[in-house]
Amino acid sequence: MTVVLVVNSGSSSLKYQLIDMRDERVLASGLIERIGEPTGAVVHKYGDDKTEQEAEITDHDYAFDIMMQNFEDFGPSMADAAPAVVGHRIVQGGRRFFGPTIIDQAIEQDIEELIPLAPLHNGPNLAGVRAARRVFADIPHVAVFDTAFHTTLSDAASYYALNREVAAKYRVRKYGAHGTSHKYVSETAAKFLDRPYEELRTVVLHIGNGASACAVDGGKSIETSMGMTPLEGLVMGTRTGDIDPAVLFHLHRKGGYTVEDLDKLLNKQSGLLGLTGTNDVRDVTARAAAGDALAELGLEVYVHRLRHYIGAYLVALQGADVIAWCGGVGENSVEVRKRALAGMEWLGVELDAQRNAEPNHGIREISTDSSRVRVLVVPTDEELEIARQSLQAAGTTAG
Ligand code: ADP
Repeated sequence: MTVVLVVNSGSSSLKYQLIDMRDERVLASGLIERIGEPTGAVVHKYGDDKTEQEAEITDHDYAFDIMMQNFEDFGPSMADAAPAVVGHRIVQGGRRFFGPTIIDQAIEQDIEELIPLAPLHNGPNLAGVRAARRVFADIPHVAVFDTAFHTTLSDAASYYALNREVAAKYRVRKYGAHGTSHKYVSETAAKFLDRPYEELRTVVLHIGNGASACAVDGGKSIETSMGMTPLEGLVMGTRTGDIDPAVLFHLHRKGGYTVEDLDKLLNKQSGLLGLTGTNDVRDVTARAAAGDALAELGLEVYVHRLRHYIGAYLVALQGADVIAWCGGVGENSVEVRKRALAGMEWLGVELDAQRNAEPNHGIREISTDSSRVRVLVVPTDEELEIARQSLQAAGTTAG
């Protein structure tokens, strides 16, 4: 049996999946939340059984011990499952990591070196790596970087017009994010359409609470909307996305906002939440449909930015073969998809109203039969992509 354990260790949570790679089936999964708070929540699923507990989870080491205990108590036992590889999600790989990488002491240090570029993410990611390597000392651990898929971006697409010396000194450039998802979705779309991945031009719209767009040309990312950090680009659940940086000077000078205040304002208190009072697209669309002017405005700002990027990426790709939607909003919101692609028939994009309105049931086409650009909904699966890349990097085959 070839089993991969996928670990996604975030700032206050630890997610894991145990996947049998012979048929890419999830054997067990879990989520440990609110690490560092007095009451943490633990969910473990194995087959049809789901267990929920509460506990104080002091740190990532302890969260990892809980995960191991879950496997022992609720199955499958690690002795039976015997994972061959552990795959780790790492957010920031900088210009150092271009693909999945077997982790050793030196690689751990490189990941640590990159913490200043992703302070909220790489630290907790690394804590997960260290805890996992302590427990699974005898099997390979592989780092799969969110940024790796975007290392194909040209300099023109990834340099900011910032003073050259400052940018170089502080490693400021566009690194992008969601790369594992953009790769999985664009590749899955090609398979679904039975077209060679190397030939397909795809705009991927990963729209969840965090949101990013990506132009994929023959399997290579050539444009993406997130920047040095996941704050740039689309309007998101709680993040502004693009904004005139002079707004920050203004708020500092006139409102006395500190760097921490601004960080919080732009990352946590803005986006759809800041515009409408909720970051849940379900609520915003329901309120807009009922005539709530604030919700309608929020939705329009959200969609306006999305259309801006779709247009830009159609130009970058010189026309697309596919537009693929994923993420909680992309996979489910009939209204956002409808508004975002309205009036694009002249570009060859024809959404089929009925197909678009069908409830989410896996990968499917939602464009008309005559649409030149095929519009798809492709549920993303970052854990599976991490497992595939980890297995490949470790040189193990599923069998
Ligand atoms: P994350 O970026 O945290 O991974 P997800 O991809 O899970 O987020 O997306 C979560 C968001 O998806 C929710 O905040 C909500 O706005 C949206 N969403 C979930 N289900 C629906 C639905 N049925 N219709 C519209 N939006 C939905």
